[in-house]
Amino acid sequence: MAERDSNYDYDLFVIGAGSGGVRAARMSSSNGARVAIAEERFLGGTCVNIGCVPKKLFTYAAHVPDEIEDAAGYGWSVGERSFDWKTLVANKNAEIERLNGIYAKLLDGAGVTLYRARAKLIDAHRIDVGGEMVTAERILIATGGKPNRPSEPGQEYGVVSDDMFYLDELPKRAIVAGGGYIAVEFAGILNGLGVETVQLYRGDLFLRGFDRDVREHLAGEMRKKGVDLRFNAIIEKTEKREDGTLVAHLSGGETVETDLILYAIGRSPNTEGLGLEEAGVAVNDKGAISVDDDYSTSVPNIYAIGDVIDRVALTPVAIGEGMVFAFNTYNGESRKMDYRDIPSAVFSNPPIGTVGLSEEEAVAEYGAVDVYLSEFRPMKHTMSGSDERVLMKLLVDVATDRVVGLHMVGPDAGEIAQGFGVALRANATKAEFDSTVGIHPTSAEEFVTMREPTRRASAKSEAAE
Ligand code: NDP
Repeated sequence: MAERDSNYDYDLFVIGAGSGGVRAARMSSSNGARVAIAEERFLGGTCVNIGCVPKKLFTYAAHVPDEIEDAAGYGWSVGERSFDWKTLVANKNAEIERLNGIYAKLLDGAGVTLYRARAKLIDAHRIDVGGEMVTAERILIATGGKPNRPSEPGQEYGVVSDDMFYLDELPKRAIVAGGGYIAVEFAGILNGLGVETVQLYRGDLFLRGFDRDVREHLAGEMRKKGVDLRFNAIIEKTEKREDGTLVAHLSGGETVETDLILYAIGRSPNTEGLGLEEAGVAVNDKGAISVDDDYSTSVPNIYAIGDVIDRVALTPVAIGEGMVFAFNTYNGESRKMDYRDIPSAVFSNPPIGTVGLSEEEAVAEYGAVDVYLSEFRPMKHTMSGSDERVLMKLLVDVATDRVVGLHMVGPDAGEIAQGFGVALRANATKAEFDSTVGIHPTSAEEFVTMREPTRRASAKSEAAE
């Protein structure tokens, strides 16, 4: 367990009260450390304020029109409908304020001193917090990330994801530039809320890194729902007309008129003006803080966790890293964060749930994998009239029978992948999946009833293609 030096104002000073920073602060304090935390914007960080939480609330709003359409087949006639963006934003803001309050209470209850100010390192033990100098034996940087902006002419007319949660008006038309998590999620939200949505991605197929069948299936479903997906396209220049219309000039030569351009082209570690150089904290070539397995930086008493280290930019991962730091440092434990088989969801419409390897990764790692693929109309849509289809896919290592990848595109995919995440972490085999009784009738039961492989994929067969 760490020795404490009471000559410092605090044992631990955390910079950034997002999910990771708050958890690390609370757990360190509950293990006996004297802890302070600084936050210049909002408690809960990106996830609670301008990320996961409000985004998920917006996806609920965006799914309502589908539900209304589906209702007719079940005998319901739904009268005149209308949507009020301002009501959605106001209700979302009220919920976020409630969560901010909960975070403040959690910190207070844990005995953590909260500074509502910007913090900057002066050196390895001194921090400038809104003009006040405080000292700490250890410092934890948990400042998260921020959206990237492109450099093309007229990029200043576009917005980034932070802005989407506070738009005064919902636009009639929008372009979403990018093909990662944030881009597909906002394309689904905007389209669901009735905005004519064009999504541009610079490569052949969006969601690079995800399983190819998943990417193709989602592209098909999004197009059916009316998103104008354009691949191999980027914005080269944007002009703004006097009436406010934006004219985006695309790489292929065509122009698209729109009312809003959202750039969702990745995020970068939030390190600007933090005093890293002054304190001697090293960053890697992507600007992320370099850390070892214990999250210690090049300055041994300064640590970093979460998006600012750019390992896996997910809230539960930042929380996990914060717990490892707190329990190892202040409770003498030797925990390690396990980055294997992290389940994740993309809250696109329809959503993706995934855990383990994509087919491409599984073949590269195991040589030969059996692919079980099922594509079907879910029971609900046998009467709703919707043509939405579900994709479910399992990847099984031929040599060991272990399920090494599980993917779904369809309603509740995130909920379903979370449960199966436990099975994959427990190294479940296909035989164990097969011996699990299904819950009937559900979509999820398909994962335990896929009997015959659709194909065998191997490094050889990939090479032959
Ligand atoms: P991602 O890194 O996921 O995606 C960035 C996208 O922008 C990619 O399609 C990339 O293309 C494209 N791109 C990058 N640079 C340019 C450029 N100059 N011009 C055009 N396109 C470009 O970033 P996001 O911002 O979507 O999300 C950041 C991270 O946040 C995610 O990786 C994820 O970890 C996390 N997140 C998680 C969510 C969840 O769990 N549901 C939701 C939202 C975010 P290419 O692939 O070709 O490089």
